[in-house]
Amino acid sequence: MHFKIKYKDKNARLGELITAHSSFQTPAFMPVGTAAAVKSLDANDLSKLLDAKIILANTYHLFLRPGAEVIKRLGGLHSFTGFKGSFLTDSGGFQAFSLSKNSKPSEEGIAFKSHIDGSLHLFTPKSVLDTQYALNSDLMMILDDLIALPAKKDRIDLSVKRTIKWAKQSIKYHKERQKEGIGLTQNIFAIIQGGTDYEARRLCANELAGLGFDGLAIGGLSVGEENQAMYDTVEALMPFMPENRPRYLMGVGSPEDLVENVERGVDLFDCVMPTRNARNGTLFTKEGRLNIKRAEFIGKDDPIELNCECYTCKHYSKGYLNHLFRAKELSFFRLASLHNLHYYLSIMKSMQVAIKEGKFSEFKRDFYHKRSS
Ligand SMILES: [Zn+2]
Repeated sequence: MHFKIKYKDKNARLGELITAHSSFQTPAFMPVGTAAAVKSLDANDLSKLLDAKIILANTYHLFLRPGAEVIKRLGGLHSFTGFKGSFLTDSGGFQAFSLSKNSKPSEEGIAFKSHIDGSLHLFTPKSVLDTQYALNSDLMMILDDLIALPAKKDRIDLSVKRTIKWAKQSIKYHKERQKEGIGLTQNIFAIIQGGTDYEARRLCANELAGLGFDGLAIGGLSVGEENQAMYDTVEALMPFMPENRPRYLMGVGSPEDLVENVERGVDLFDCVMPTRNARNGTLFTKEGRLNIKRAEFIGKDDPIELNCECYTCKHYSKGYLNHLFRAKELSFFRLASLHNLHYYLSIMKSMQVAIKEGKFSEFKRDFYHKRSS
């Protein structure tokens, strides 16, 4: 992996990230392909219609179904899905924690019951990397000990201690595997935990920054805390994250969250919001959110957003999309997802241009102004 910061506007960064499968500019947003599919879209939609260079797939889901070995036999994620850009895979820890009723973290790893058939499994720092070697993702996340917020101080401290311990085991294991010729083109990111406790977060960031990971992520945010608490935590952490490595804020967020965190120096994002909202009929526009199912859109012949360059806006009216939603037509999911992802990817491109031109604060003012007018 090659990563270089090309321009800075205060703390906002325009970078270039090159993996074995794609090269792209940051700040970047990664559409979420939970089960090796961005819901309702295929590889052609992602590459040709959206020009997405990197997407995310969830290790937990793929581990349980169809199984990492099945994907490996079919050539890894790129060959399996037909998407030739980059993949980031998470460790699976978050879903083991959030989807399983009986998830139990211990010093060894996270034991959990499958949400599909109730079978018992254990994710360890080594096992989640083995799964990701089989998937052949470009960016791999290590196992971390995440906690729900708010959390008590002693649980936060334990989470940080365990996360650092697992990070040391993970990087050691990754180096050993690479010596054996496994995962040579794969990169490894560690995850900073610590809730909204700045001291715990800084301690975690400091320790992880010295371990030689290819990038650092901020995990355990956007799990119920106030937006401002998230922004403040990110801001407090930035001086402790290596300048020359990508910074990834996991699972965040709304368009406003993207703008606020790019301003603070974040490079990578992922979130289900654009696709999940699309399926519920909520569409993002420069003026804010629009609910396409409302009666006011029946028979309207203008697109979701004038001047939107997306496939959906170029071909279809609000009236047609309103009809598809109300008639429960499956094509609605695809067309709405294309628009929302195009909107997200366009914001990232606009921010890249603004950073390059040294006009990020003007961009931000304009972004909020259009929403309030
Ligand atoms: Zn559009």
